[in-house]
Amino acid sequence: MKNIEFDLFDIITGGIPDLEKYDIAGFAAFTNYGRIPDIIQAFVEKLPQQDDKPAFVFNTYGFMSGKTLLILDKLVTEKGFFVIAGHSLHTPESYPPMIVRGMGNEKAPNEKEMRRFNKFIYELDRLISADRELKRKNIWPGLLNRLVPAFSVTKARKDMGEKFVDEALCIECGLCERLCPYEAIKCSPKPVFDTARCYACWRCYNHCPEKAIYTTKYRKAGHYPEPINQLKEKLEV
Ligand code: SF4
Ligand code: SF4
Repeated sequence: MKNIEFDLFDIITGGIPDLEKYDIAGFAAFTNYGRIPDIIQAFVEKLPQQDDKPAFVFNTYGFMSGKTLLILDKLVTEKGFFVIAGHSLHTPESYPPMIVRGMGNEKAPNEKEMRRFNKFIYELDRLISADRELKRKNIWPGLLNRLVPAFSVTKARKDMGEKFVDEALCIECGLCERLCPYEAIKCSPKPVFDTARCYACWRCYNHCPEKAIYTTKYRKAGHYPEPINQLKEKLEV
């Protein structure tokens, strides 16, 4: 964005932001089983009720966006935000089971998707910087996405399988405990997983520097620690 200064807010460690000092709030989520991750839902629900504060919603998806943007739109609208723009961006897959199946979509977004994304950014930039009356944006994710069900965390856990740690590989760095967004890991000094708290987000599996974490179904395969260079280059306009 050329005309807008913005701050990124870490919803895991940042507490509740003071939204008063901002003209607009943006909510960005990845797609988790056809819906937004629970941690984002919990964060929005904790925010104070707003009085028509302008907002935009945004999500990334690897396979299908599903109802992610619709759910995010509904959630923030119920919180009193006034949604003026929304977009879903196709990105390479970060979900190990799909990568293992050869469906990593490394080439996403394609040219057409990048054009649409850049148009979204350009229009959002113009909308906010120009002194214009803001209008409510009707979010329409497409018929196919509307038909995709939002799956439960139980299915996500089942797909992941039980987690274990290869004790010979684990260097006891504690990174998995620090990174887990749901406080489902305690390192003492090797990690112990609390299945009831785990939302099967794969963060520990993806980020362990030694690839010591594995599951009943996946071992040393499909890791996605960070966005690939190809995607970073595309986003650097
Ligand atoms: S991140 Fe990996 S190496 Fe570090 S404590 Fe966790 S399992 Fe062990
Ligand atoms: S997959 Fe790992 S990082 Fe994600 S919630 Fe479960 S234990 Fe935490």
